[in-house]
Amino acid sequence: MRPSGFSASSSNLRSAQKMIRRTKIVATLGPSCSDPKTLDRMMEAGVDVVRLNFSHGVAQDHIDRAELVRSLARTRGRAVGVLVDLQGPKIRIGKFKDGKITLAKGDTFVLDAACPLGDQNRVGLDYKDLPNDVSRGVTLLLDDGRIEFWVEEVKGTEIICTVVQGGVLSNNKGINRKGGGLSASALTEKDIEDIKTAVALKADYLAVSFPRSGADMHQARELLRAAGGKCQLIAKIERTEAIENLEEILEASDAIMVARGDLGVEVGDAAVPGLQKRMIRMALERNKVVITATQMMESMISSPIPTRAEVSDVANAVLDGTDAVMLSAETAAGQFPVEAIQAMDRVCLEAEKEADNVFSGARLDHSFLRPDEAIAMSAVFTSVHLNIKAIASLTESGNTCLWMSRLSTRVPIYALTPQVETRRKVTLFRGVYPINLKTASKERDALLAEAEEELRRRGAVRDGDLILLTIGEPIGQSGGTNTMKIVRVGGAKKP
Ligand code: PGA
Ligand code: MN
Repeated sequence: MRPSGFSASSSNLRSAQKMIRRTKIVATLGPSCSDPKTLDRMMEAGVDVVRLNFSHGVAQDHIDRAELVRSLARTRGRAVGVLVDLQGPKIRIGKFKDGKITLAKGDTFVLDAACPLGDQNRVGLDYKDLPNDVSRGVTLLLDDGRIEFWVEEVKGTEIICTVVQGGVLSNNKGINRKGGGLSASALTEKDIEDIKTAVALKADYLAVSFPRSGADMHQARELLRAAGGKCQLIAKIERTEAIENLEEILEASDAIMVARGDLGVEVGDAAVPGLQKRMIRMALERNKVVITATQMMESMISSPIPTRAEVSDVANAVLDGTDAVMLSAETAAGQFPVEAIQAMDRVCLEAEKEADNVFSGARLDHSFLRPDEAIAMSAVFTSVHLNIKAIASLTESGNTCLWMSRLSTRVPIYALTPQVETRRKVTLFRGVYPINLKTASKERDALLAEAEEELRRRGAVRDGDLILLTIGEPIGQSGGTNTMKIVRVGGAKKP
């Protein structure tokens, strides 16, 4: 739930204006959408950000995909963000002689860091330190929780387990420790290499998998800087420790992902919806961006329509105030990638009609730290209380738009900027839409006139509408927003 503030009685709240989806859609790329035609249809259906999942494929695949996405986006005259998702220390078993085995409840089974090839009695571990991280009484969950082991004893490289929940266990399945507590570092050797690839393909967002603490995020930031990158950092919240350290992780990150897959295995599925609400609220209050992810439209991997429960799940994430909703296997490996995006688009739009139309009181009891933050907050406040049709923020870094979009407002926020990185960054911000500001002029009135003209050209405003513009003087400096201006489109007609 968003903190309730005071509601504005302005007629703006109920005025019928063309609805633009405020919640952003992230789509994971994969074999189901490798061809340019499908990818283009996905963009047409409304993808804002694509996710490159570095758990699969080789670097060159990802570089090629990013290039294809950007060239299609250029043709469409719009910005699409690129999110690189690092694999992280996914803790996995090794391979079996026959590819898989079937375990029954009560069986004894050994996880053995020294076993080269598995059989009915034992299997190897990719993560060799696991025996040091567990002891008698620990519960291990395999294959996203489908199989459950109880640890009887640890002997050298061997973890001797009793099967609590059996089933088919196949090669390289993941292992989670119930309740958390694995010491694996968030950044593996592979991740460190992959950060360089992310920099090479000019990723806009870099997601760190399984961070435990703020320190893990600081380390990722240092590696990113060392590789010459400066994109936005996302912490995937998917470990018990990350929940305990959420405050410092948020502080050290630009965004978080509610990574419900692994998180649900570690903390138990029933805890996830409550945690989702808490994480979204905390992110918004701290000026951070938040993505809600995993199994949102899961049945659409093989069905052209979602279930009612999935529709409710996506709608609820919108009502919780998430910046973006994400598709994983639905678009990467499913049969209906375009339909999945269309479904998300219509569900978000409909949920937004119902979303709290109240100006969030999140900052009412705060002092502002900077003049640009004060202008951003004043702009949103004013837009809700006066009949403003659009906010146009002339911005270098996009920060002004970030502050604005942390508050709930139905008024669209246009980020007008000559900086291509900024246009791509804001693709993830709820209710913010990037526009290329072409005028090279450093003259305020010329810039404001171009902003007005761009909004009119897009049909965002008509003659007689009010636009609220923010700008920084001197022009072109990051962090310099210090001016707010309200203009009537098409010149001075009476209010
Ligand atoms: P993954 O992360 O898809 O990389 O596992 C998301 C999640 O765990 O929910
Ligand atoms: Mn995960």
